[in-house]
Amino acid sequence: MSAVINADIAADDQPVIGWPKITAVIGSETDGILVINGVAHPCWAPRADVLRTGMIARCTATAATLRRPVRVDITEGDQSWSVAVRPDGIVQELDKDGRITGAGDDLLPIAGGCRSCGESNPVTARQCSGCGTADPLGVLAAEPYAVTAASDRRTDRS
Ligand SMILES: [Zn+2]
Repeated sequence: MSAVINADIAADDQPVIGWPKITAVIGSETDGILVINGVAHPCWAPRADVLRTGMIARCTATAATLRRPVRVDITEGDQSWSVAVRPDGIVQELDKDGRITGAGDDLLPIAGGCRSCGESNPVTARQCSGCGTADPLGVLAAEPYAVTAASDRRTDRS
């Protein structure tokens, strides 16, 4: 196997940088946990789509801060997959090498209803365009807390 270093290669052809390390564990229809660099963000929402949109919104905020896509490893039951969440709120699949598949020009930013008034907001919104609520798609259920690598995976859940 030879690694070819090509200075002309487009940034889009590079694997999405796996830092910060973000994992999203979907626990049920209504609760999940987002772990960003060892800090757990417990999430809850009344519906599965609201939960997912809210978790994506949190990842979008991280991507926006870094001004580049972030890799999110998602686990739901016995399935796991990885996506790139872009600063513009567009979510794209990754191939087996961790690269974004396709240009994504045909994709729209993920959007969801404001948790206060229900107005549709893109995941990039810091404030609801309707009622002004901050973090309108937020699903944070409790204060984030640090987790160690060992306690990250809970095997004693019953
Ligand atoms: Zn609102």
